[in-house]
Amino acid sequence: MKYLFLFAFLGVFWWLWSKRNAPERSDSSVRQAPPAEKMLTCVHCGVHLPESEAVSDAGQIYCCEAHRAAARSAGR
Ligand SMILES: [Zn+2]
Repeated sequence: MKYLFLFAFLGVFWWLWSKRNAPERSDSSVRQAPPAEKMLTCVHCGVHLPESEAVSDAGQIYCCEAHRAAARSAGR
């Protein structure tokens, strides 16, 4: 019976320890990610968006597929 309490105590201690360490790690990775992303401007509507979400076509940057198609049909 003595060992049961010891294991329960160790289990709670380990749980609190992992709970305290986990958010710190994800927090720092979230904080590091945004400044690394380059911001671009859609030539059709002028909205700013991260490079990973941008649609590029013939050297022009668009925020979505619809604006790329709209600018293409309007320009030529
Ligand atoms: Zn746009």
